[in-house]
Amino acid sequence: MADACNFIEQIVAEDLAAGRVKEVQTRFPPEPNGYLHIGHAKSMFVNFGIAEKFGGKCNLFFDDTNPSKEKTEFVDAIKRDIAWLGYHWAKEVYASDFFEIIYDYAEKLICMGKAFVCDLSPEEIRATRGTLTEPGTESPYRNRTAEENLALFREMKAGKYADGEKCLRAKIDMASPNVNLRDPVIYRILHAAHHRTGDRWCIYPMYDYAHPVCDYLQGVTHSLCTLEFEDHRPLYDWVGLTLGFDPKPRQIEFARLNMTNLVMSKRYLKKLVEDGSVHGWDDPRMPTLAGLRNRGVPAAALRDFCERAGVAKAQSECDISYFEAVVREYLNARAPRAMAVADPLKLTITNYEGSEEVDFDVNQLDPSAGTRKVTFSKHLYIERGDFSLDPPPKYHRLKVGGVARLKNAYIVRCDEAVRDADGNVTEILCTYLPESRSGHDTSGVKAKGVLHWVNAETCADALLKQYDHLLKDADYAGQDFSERMNLSSEHVFHAKAEPCLAEAAEGTAFQLMRTGYYKVCREGERLCLSEIVSLKDNFNK
Ligand code: ATP
Ligand code: MG
Repeated sequence: MADACNFIEQIVAEDLAAGRVKEVQTRFPPEPNGYLHIGHAKSMFVNFGIAEKFGGKCNLFFDDTNPSKEKTEFVDAIKRDIAWLGYHWAKEVYASDFFEIIYDYAEKLICMGKAFVCDLSPEEIRATRGTLTEPGTESPYRNRTAEENLALFREMKAGKYADGEKCLRAKIDMASPNVNLRDPVIYRILHAAHHRTGDRWCIYPMYDYAHPVCDYLQGVTHSLCTLEFEDHRPLYDWVGLTLGFDPKPRQIEFARLNMTNLVMSKRYLKKLVEDGSVHGWDDPRMPTLAGLRNRGVPAAALRDFCERAGVAKAQSECDISYFEAVVREYLNARAPRAMAVADPLKLTITNYEGSEEVDFDVNQLDPSAGTRKVTFSKHLYIERGDFSLDPPPKYHRLKVGGVARLKNAYIVRCDEAVRDADGNVTEILCTYLPESRSGHDTSGVKAKGVLHWVNAETCADALLKQYDHLLKDADYAGQDFSERMNLSSEHVFHAKAEPCLAEAAEGTAFQLMRTGYYKVCREGERLCLSEIVSLKDNFNK
């Protein structure tokens, strides 16, 4: 049997060893009311991961009991995102597939005297629930007969009542120390069209009641969820025991993935999309799976991150730079290298004629990737930021009178900066040292700075996009999301790119030397280099 690594795996392994469970069945249970985010990737890692590890199955279970917020658009997006992450569900199941059976079980509860129709309004129910220290008050409708309850419940189903006029409540214990057991509402009236069942129903089961029923009907052995459901477990168990589920699914809670600088709740993500703060659910700054995919984060790196972040019972916050470090490590080992210069500055080598090819490793960490040729010539571009008219001490990039090496080519000396009428530098004129070619340097000149460059005769125009986090850093923690929002988190630069970037397939990830990891994409005809993750590692271990 597989080794158990975390506390959930230990429980599952024990259940198997003791014969309580024959085959592991889990489910990943999104509500189709938005797009999946990086937190869901963790839930998938847990649910699909456990099933796979123990030779079991994981279903995709759509928890669609709240019709006013759910849409088929979200169902489709969720399926696309799961497939992208590389998980395979055994069955695609909807809570709404079971509405009929969930309803029948509710009638059964009524007949058993374990549920009653209550006429209190939602406000009155809330007001009579009691507090953590005081018991609740019993509803005056609590002692209706089973016959009366059944008749009323059927009328509710038939559409006789308006939203909120009545509800069905489990009859448990208004004095229970666990507030969730104080006669919780299990069905409500809601005259709303459902994305799958249309107008068939005007009463809908509540999550806490529907979920254990759906788990049981799917044969779920381990119902894995996040810690906020820990207090709901007694109700989960009550439903199973009262209805005689055998074998009864077992609920196990684990800590949510929380991350710095990220908004993760669907409600806020939706707001960002709706008020236009981002370009859409798949904006590369969004922590949605669609956003991460569009950003160019490889699915394998995301899975690796979930694995390394671990599964625990204790709440914690993961530093976003740890996620970035995992993505960087993944790309560093695999991404081909290329050069692009942001905010380009023309560099002309006055004593050079013609052109020649110089060699670059495709990826110096991967010898099997081989080398490639880059054409060097008299007319090049470097980054404007690599030249200074007014350099600070110990400046190793180019300055008038100074030298620097052009990566894998020659050392150049800057002789003159050409300026326009406003004093802006438009070009720098250099001379190269013919005996300084990389690998054959006999010049005896030491150049501390090594600059990346592109050939002006062959390069392509590009837009280079860089991103900041959507939320300002931890100093702002605790403040409202709207105040922490970093509204200028997208930066666009004009750039010149090597031809290999212009020729690369859409979506290819490159390490742009000295710049970062970027994805090649197009905006119309235009080449676009979109930041996946910066080069700099600022994760403190
Ligand atoms: P949100 O608050 O972002 O809307 P949710 O919990 O309402 O999230 P669901 O669609 O109900 O989203 O979640 C599906 C599953 O994913 C649930 O089991 C939920 O516990 C889990 N999940 C959601 N967010 C996280 C997270 N940050 N870390 C781990 N699991 C999560
Ligand atoms: Mg939810």
